[in-house]
Amino acid sequence: MSNPHLQTELPGPNARALIARDAEVISPSYPRDYPFVMSHGRGTEVWDVDGNRFLDFAAGIAVCSTGHAHPQVVAAVTDAASKFLHISSDYWHEQMVGLGERLARIAPMGEPAMSFLCQSGTEAVEAAIKLARYVTGRSRFIGFLGGFHGRTMGSLSFTSSKYTQQKGFNATMPGVTHVPYPNRYRPLFAGNDQGAAVLDYIRMLFERSVPPSDVAAILVEPIQGEGGYVVPPDGFLAGLRALCDQHGILLIFDEVQSGIGRTGRMFASQHWGVSPDIMTLAKGMGSGLPIGAMVAKKRLMSQWKRGAHGNTYGGNPITCAAANATIDLVEGGMVGNAATVGAHFTSALHDLARDFPCIGDVRGKGLMIGMELIETDGSPARALCDAVITRAFHNGLLLLSCGTSTVRFMPPLDVKREEVDEAMALLRTSLQEAMVLSGRGA
Ligand code: PMP
Repeated sequence: MSNPHLQTELPGPNARALIARDAEVISPSYPRDYPFVMSHGRGTEVWDVDGNRFLDFAAGIAVCSTGHAHPQVVAAVTDAASKFLHISSDYWHEQMVGLGERLARIAPMGEPAMSFLCQSGTEAVEAAIKLARYVTGRSRFIGFLGGFHGRTMGSLSFTSSKYTQQKGFNATMPGVTHVPYPNRYRPLFAGNDQGAAVLDYIRMLFERSVPPSDVAAILVEPIQGEGGYVVPPDGFLAGLRALCDQHGILLIFDEVQSGIGRTGRMFASQHWGVSPDIMTLAKGMGSGLPIGAMVAKKRLMSQWKRGAHGNTYGGNPITCAAANATIDLVEGGMVGNAATVGAHFTSALHDLARDFPCIGDVRGKGLMIGMELIETDGSPARALCDAVITRAFHNGLLLLSCGTSTVRFMPPLDVKREEVDEAMALLRTSLQEAMVLSGRGA
């Protein structure tokens, strides 16, 4: 074992025993790539049930934004829990209103905003779909190929980052038309400006098959997440904004993965200075507690009549307390750390790419970084990507993939430079091993 932090061959005996029990009682539908069985964590470090220590550069799929068990979040949650565990959104309380105020203050709408609180990304997207239909009276939508917005039936209608997400669940919500997402590394259209080409494509759609006056909203990730950490070209989001304004269509930014500091700005859309009408949040918002939000311009959300939309757990005091503490920590320095350590990380990955021709592209913003692996002919190196992730686990580094063959890096927002350097060393070893295993030589 090259990593001194690993005590046993993986998975160890305690991990194996728990995985065997799980196989009997937990749904096999969860996509699990390697046998990590968590015991506890602190910051970017996590330990498994056999005493092995790992660096967590997956952070619960970009959820543990403030690191594992941040003392300020734990204190906020403990304090809220000691007062009351739940009261339902039929009533009022400080944590819920305080969160609404924070979100209204940081929301990039450029005008007053209101929030609908829920427990997950998919529910935030469902709420956005409902609000868009409600206020426009229109029922069609534009979504993007490679997009991911959740797995309940409404949000699933937009999700298309993998075929397996849709297969077997046909007849989801009607009226959703998918268009290509502009991808500079894997261009679909001729010419240099993939963003302009996609905008032209939507215009053509509006002229020939989807009347824009029927379209309630365009739903888009400002940086595509599950689809491969794809950063759109400059001008694309502004172009979408202009198209929406021209036709009275609402623009919804799904910032479930990219929001709350992940990209080195509070929201990814702020890199381009484009304001949505509606925005969805979850993941990093609660440092791990299940909370989501649909944030909309006040002039839209205030049109909802009493009872138009609701839920039992929205505004739960414990999840709201976690979100309030998280936003305070992210605003109080972690967003800046994500920008500076993210830049250091990205430049280290570019250095690594010089030694490994199988690294076709390094892209991202802040601490939302993707490394696309390719075959010698430039096609996606899926098996290599899987092998890198498996070898990284065996070397003490937790990673996940996205897109067809992209390793994604989304450590906690307060990850230290030294931890990035340690992860880079483990990644280099893992790449070398994966190359040998896949018959390419080191
Ligand atoms: N939107 C985006 C952009 C996401 O990345 C995800 C989760 N990967 C979702 C929505 C769905 O979130 P959840 O799993 O909390 O329902």
